Amino acid sequence: MKNYTSYCFDLDGTVYRGSTVIPEAREFIHFLRAQGIRPFYVTNNAKMTQQQIYEKLSGMGIELERDHIMTSAIATAKYIAKYYPNETAFIIGETGLYEALEQEGIPIVEDHAQLVVQGLDTTLNYEKMELAGYQLQNGAKFIATNGDLKIPKERGFVPGNGSLVRLLAEVSNVEPISIGKPEPHMLAALQETFQLEKSRMIMIGDNYETDILAGIHFGIDTCHVNTGVSPTEQVRMQKLKPTYYVQTLEELKNFFE
Ligand SMILES: [Mg+2]
Repeated sequence: MKNYTSYCFDLDGTVYRGSTVIPEAREFIHFLRAQGIRPFYVTNNAKMTQQQIYEKLSGMGIELERDHIMTSAIATAKYIAKYYPNETAFIIGETGLYEALEQEGIPIVEDHAQLVVQGLDTTLNYEKMELAGYQLQNGAKFIATNGDLKIPKERGFVPGNGSLVRLLAEVSNVEPISIGKPEPHMLAALQETFQLEKSRMIMIGDNYETDILAGIHFGIDTCHVNTGVSPTEQVRMQKLKPTYYVQTLEELKNFFE
């Protein structure tokens, strides 16, 4: 295995499942830290703030740096600050998205925005969708934190941000720019912020369609772990394949020996 210095972990299905830590992941992270490596965490979750995710991981016994957490909300805010500086934004989303945009100093407005920014909002109502739709039809640009169509829960799937983004896109006839995985923006934001050496970055995740493709699109090595949504057999049949496959992250430790 190559000498990586920047390990980028997906969260749900890779480091934890819901509110339960995956022990092999925690151990591998400890193992890396013991060697002076400080991993990064890359999640499409736009609802939670960096601090909330920090507390969740800390509570699971994972030691980490708060600013090593990259959410699709933070990447969206950085993207807007870079490509649409000083443009006003109308937000559909929760605390994580509001906080991220505020931190980048993006002016947030209630109507007549230049950008409509959409992340998952579990209290979203029809009136707010109407308002967003009008602004898109009036020429606002459309930015989605992520395009995940559905989210697995215990009883089945529930609508993800991507489903609600599709709805607005259909109504308004405006296609969004999507920031989260499988797009490379979150990895690009980490590379830029921390001046990471691309050839020594690796993206590790359970979901082929998001994690592995994000790594491939960004042009770095990837590792699929069979602890979440994509079964290894299915990943092996894909045309664009991950660099490594492991059953659990414990196996990655062996690559060091
Ligand atoms: Mg995952």
